[in-house]
Amino acid sequence: MTTPETPASPSPSTPPLALLLDVDGPVASPVTRTVQPAIIADMLALAAAGIPVIFNTGRSAAFIREQVMDPMIAAGMPAGTLIHAICEKGAVWFSYTSTGAGAVHVDHELAIPRAFGDDVRRLVAEDYARHMFFDETKLAMVSVEQHIDVANSDYRDEQELFDTDAIGLMARHGLGVVRLEHHAPDSDDQIDYRVDPTIISTDIESVRLGKDLGASRAVELLAAQGITPLAWRTVGDSRTDYAMADWLHHNDHPVKHVDVRPADGVPVKPYEVLTAADLGLGAEVIHDDAGAAFLHRWRSALIG
Ligand SMILES: [Mg+2]
Repeated sequence: MTTPETPASPSPSTPPLALLLDVDGPVASPVTRTVQPAIIADMLALAAAGIPVIFNTGRSAAFIREQVMDPMIAAGMPAGTLIHAICEKGAVWFSYTSTGAGAVHVDHELAIPRAFGDDVRRLVAEDYARHMFFDETKLAMVSVEQHIDVANSDYRDEQELFDTDAIGLMARHGLGVVRLEHHAPDSDDQIDYRVDPTIISTDIESVRLGKDLGASRAVELLAAQGITPLAWRTVGDSRTDYAMADWLHHNDHPVKHVDVRPADGVPVKPYEVLTAADLGLGAEVIHDDAGAAFLHRWRSALIG
């Protein structure tokens, strides 16, 4: 008598791989800001098979609930599958199952002073409302994002002006700030905050936030479940996303990083960096199309 061959299911405590995913870019389209159904399906299949799928994003918990959690649950998330989401670059995190989201944790020491956030909200309403909006869902960061119906080039011009105004506001609040190469310490010569312009938003945040903090939280969340992945794949579309793999590599976790927007150039790293070209795809396959291709490849390789 023969039994049909089924791929060995991964051990729950030592899965062969864990996925640490930036969201805007590799998972959510930077144009529509929504997630392709095929990506939802592949992430769901991997998670259900015991491959940890963890989000490490600058986005809010509310964004992840709406764009990722709800579609996964609607697609039929099995009971017992747990997904972790590290949001706001490590300042906020929560986990969810088929029944919905658990408690949202906020590291309040890493939050932006509320009075400053209120002034940014006013600045946007008075001077920048045509091009951008204040993200009311953020709990620790202040983010101001491009309206979808505005051309990105027009937004980028306005963003420069907004960033200058925001830095001026920070000085008035006594907050030391760095933006790219520009450093403006506070009266104690301290820089505690960063203005980070992305292609569709400006984030104002504690300098202690970052994708490296998110990676450390991801390892902690799995450790609390008794899970030690044998290897990690990190996926991102920005230079700052390499900090996930940098941190994992530095802490002796085997890792390869996938860059879904390698047009900025692939830096030399002590770990392997993969792009869509490694899947035999053309240079035009970027963003969530590249993310989808990698997720599908991992699904085929690990689950069959
Ligand atoms: Mg991104």
